[in-house]
Amino acid sequence: GSDGGNKKTSRIRVAVRLRPYVSKQDEKGEGPCVRGLDSQNLEIINWRNATETVKYHFDVFHGEKTTQQEVFLPSVKPILPHILNGQNASVFAYGPTGAGKTHTMLGSAEQPGVIPRAVREVFKLVKSKDEDEGWDYSIGMSYLEIYNEKVRDLLSPNSHDLPIREDKAKNILIPGLTHTIISSFSDFDKHFVPATLNRTTASTKLNQRSSRSHAILLLKVVRTRRALPHRQQTGKLYLVDLAGSEDNRRTGNQGIRLKESGAINLSLFTLSKVVDALNSGASVRVPYRDSKLTRLLQDSLGGSAHSVMITNIAPEYKYYFDTFSALNFAAKSKLI
Ligand code: ADP
Ligand code: MG
Repeated sequence: GSDGGNKKTSRIRVAVRLRPYVSKQDEKGEGPCVRGLDSQNLEIINWRNATETVKYHFDVFHGEKTTQQEVFLPSVKPILPHILNGQNASVFAYGPTGAGKTHTMLGSAEQPGVIPRAVREVFKLVKSKDEDEGWDYSIGMSYLEIYNEKVRDLLSPNSHDLPIREDKAKNILIPGLTHTIISSFSDFDKHFVPATLNRTTASTKLNQRSSRSHAILLLKVVRTRRALPHRQQTGKLYLVDLAGSEDNRRTGNQGIRLKESGAINLSLFTLSKVVDALNSGASVRVPYRDSKLTRLLQDSLGGSAHSVMITNIAPEYKYYFDTFSALNFAAKSKLI
């Protein structure tokens, strides 16, 4: 929320979503390690002593029964009109592997997530624009992955390690990244689905690469004044399924190589530092350049951008430490 006064207004909304038990209900009968208190408050229950709890407050807490639409409506839909006006926005899903990030962002055919809902809504908004307002709109997409601190174009599978640059107006660009103009939702799907399938196939082959890379969909809305001098404005929307936030070194993930684990920890650690720096005021150096992820999100996180973080958590006690650290990360992020 915003704190009013003359401080920089908060623009990041922090939601926490607790997923339900999947497959077998509460196998060990130990109960959930997280309890929702109301629509903004929750508590985590100490794994050794159930009477010991830590309470957290967020913009919104989505309990285990929350539908995809109930996540989309309050947290994502309201920011979308801004990207038609040349402003930037980002929605990212944070949390440990298995807690529901991909379900939240992508979802399934029966329960589509934030990405398909946002894309449909952007097309709807553009369509509803009155001719009389004097702008022509065009929508484009890019789809990329950051893996081991390397940027890979998911719409052009042979690309690897693309550079991230900044132009004079402080816009972040990736020279060489495929940018495809799309004219409808089905047009979007035509490009997005095969790229996502490629990524998923690669991930099973490469030992769950998907949990160790950040998948980033970019929608760009460019509007052009019909009248001379054809002034243009560009709004960007980043939809990000972050790498798993679990500490692979602590959990002793055997499959993971040290280099990968270091890269994930670097980008998520830098993300938390960026969030802290934005929080503590304009005079502090914001370490955007310390990781590819934060460098890329630089013009769409903090400042005048509209950001939403959905922290996904799981109820099982085996996630206890990862849940605890994800909640602490999210609790800090709220203060931007
Ligand atoms: P992550 O991407 O964070 O690793 P997933 O999105 O793959 O996690 O979720 C792990 C499993 O839990 C998947 O089988 C997914 O379908 C299921 N799941 C996650 N969130 C929910 C939810 N809110 N409701 C029902 N099933 C869910
Ligand atoms: Mg996932």
